[in-house]
Amino acid sequence: MKKPICLLLSALMLAGAFVFSAGAVDSASAGVGEKSIETTTAPETQPAESEHVHNWGEWTVTKKATLYANGEETRTCLDDPSHTEIRVIAKIAEINQPNYSYTYTGKVIVPIFTAADVNGTLLVQGIDYTVDYVKSVNTGPYTAIVNYIGKYDDIDNVSYIISGAKQSMTVKAKSKTVKAKKAKKARQKVKNAISVSKAQGKVTYKKVKKGSSKYLTVSKKGVITVAKHKYKKGSVLKIKVKVSASGTINYNSASRTVTVKIKIK
Ligand SMILES: [Zn+2]
Repeated sequence: MKKPICLLLSALMLAGAFVFSAGAVDSASAGVGEKSIETTTAPETQPAESEHVHNWGEWTVTKKATLYANGEETRTCLDDPSHTEIRVIAKIAEINQPNYSYTYTGKVIVPIFTAADVNGTLLVQGIDYTVDYVKSVNTGPYTAIVNYIGKYDDIDNVSYIISGAKQSMTVKAKSKTVKAKKAKKARQKVKNAISVSKAQGKVTYKKVKKGSSKYLTVSKKGVITVAKHKYKKGSVLKIKVKVSASGTINYNSASRTVTVKIKIK
């Protein structure tokens, strides 16, 4: 146990002695002051090297950054190619999309997104990336391809969906009159009591039993029939009709309920 400690101590002492003797030699030679040595190490020549100002060339990308790894840029001193500097190109972050879902507008939809590096510095379209858009107008899923270029080299994509728009269908009911005399003899058809505009898809009509007269019916096409019956003059019959539009690929289905009044004259 004692031997290694002794060896270590003696090694340290030797090292100390060496440093001391080296210092002693230095100060001794300086002290001796040989004039020829003093002039060669004179302050005029020494600062010339420490005053070297790098004449940096342009940064060049020596390794492109990807989604998974940092890249590198290097520049070299034009006055001394052994002087080089390297800086990191931060790797690409995941694309930031505020929303994945859009509503049909009838026009081309361009998805909103931002591309950035992992430090949050925004990347610039045309310089750092290009986008291959798909012409997206109709409902459905879409994917735009993001190609990283310049300092970057990778591919990512922006997926989004266009869903159907709400219908702006409007349904209006008009009051109609039917003569008691005629209705007494035969059923009466009443056309155009319901007008529909801006409907998308197939329009159908259906009677809502609750709140409707049992003497009134409506065809699928919206024609109201007043049953053959002995009506009192001046009475008013009502029919509630649910008007439905089936919708299209780009518009959702919709329905409105209106009440038609049939006056008996
Ligand atoms: Zn330099």
